[in-house]
Amino acid sequence: MTQTDIRSDLGLRPIINVSGTMTSLGASIVVPEAVAAVSAILPQFVEIGDLQKKASRVIARLCGTEAGFVTASCSAGITLAVAGAMTGCDLAAVERLPNTEDLKNEVLLMTGHMVSYGAPVEQGIRLAGAKVVPVGQATSAYGYQLNGAINERTAAAVYVVSHHTVQYGLIPLKEFVEICHARGVPVIVDAASEYDLTGFLAAGADIALYSSHKFLGGLTGGIVAGRTELVRATYMQNMGIGRGMKIGKEGILGTIAALEAWEKRDHAAVRERETRYLQLWEQTLSGRPGVTPIREADPTNNPLDRLKVAIEPKGAHITAWDLADALASGRTPIIVRDHEVEHGYFYLDPCNLHPGQETVVAERLVEELEKARQSNEIIATPLEGRRNRSSQAIMHWPD
Ligand SMILES: *Cc1c(COP(=O)(O)O)cnc(C)c1O
Repeated sequence: MTQTDIRSDLGLRPIINVSGTMTSLGASIVVPEAVAAVSAILPQFVEIGDLQKKASRVIARLCGTEAGFVTASCSAGITLAVAGAMTGCDLAAVERLPNTEDLKNEVLLMTGHMVSYGAPVEQGIRLAGAKVVPVGQATSAYGYQLNGAINERTAAAVYVVSHHTVQYGLIPLKEFVEICHARGVPVIVDAASEYDLTGFLAAGADIALYSSHKFLGGLTGGIVAGRTELVRATYMQNMGIGRGMKIGKEGILGTIAALEAWEKRDHAAVRERETRYLQLWEQTLSGRPGVTPIREADPTNNPLDRLKVAIEPKGAHITAWDLADALASGRTPIIVRDHEVEHGYFYLDPCNLHPGQETVVAERLVEELEKARQSNEIIATPLEGRRNRSSQAIMHWPD
């Protein structure tokens, strides 16, 4: 932790992030290599096409593929890759988007992958002018359904790898790719927050998309990686709908630097540090009435464990969501991972902490749990209001 904190100058709360990599909290801690590269390039002019060629080589090497480039976000990558699959390298068609009248414009997406990462995946597809064709049902999809959805207007298929999606009953990537490729349909994988840079392309995906600002610790940006022909058609969208999704020199170089740092990072040491944090929190919480800490592996097999904190209100004298809210308030706000809190638990994610913050988290947990135990009544506010808080808050922004 630095001594001076720009957040206090700005009047912003000095939050500690144990929720993971969240756009709404500023994504991740940008690695020092990217910070240095960004300050070095900001005062200089560069030929962006050449900088993107350099990015292409670094992305190709790290992702074990042919080509790549950097765009504004992974979300932008979804829209541009779908656009590229529709237009190919036809610049006139690139300029006509989102008009797709004379193009193949159907994009397949399993219903179980129709999730929101803060915005709907399917909207990212529609933004290119494509029509989303759902495959299967919410919790099931079969090869015959995918095959049956392919026709002469099919431009691409999108496959989402994420903890957000339904985690069972859907078509595995390998089978998905086989079916699509047998019918000449390219597969675009949204792997925004997956650590595995090579596996999805190795499984046959034509394009894989990643966020620069998530596990890589780069600037806000999106990485497009894959087969040269489709990556080129995707890159061309910068002369069309991609203009509004533009990334600057700092974002491109920041991504290159973050990728190179990722290659050199001592991943075992990072894992060890995160494990120490989890052990500390586990020890802090075990034996406390109504609190059950359980270490859990990441649902999509990223090399990352989290601590699940299950709260039994009778014993703890507080609900999981009221504890999460109590932690998030006060002079040292701790933001936990609370997207399943209605089930009576939240998670502590160790991946975005500065050294020393793990102790603050432990202290705040003890403080709030002891305060709750001293309360005569169980602290239990209705969940309904809490769920709608963010959509209500935006109605009043900027007040
Ligand atoms: C975060 C995320 C995105 C969006 O990535 P951005 O780079 O923030 O636009 C898309 N898909 C999934 C699965 C994500 O987790």
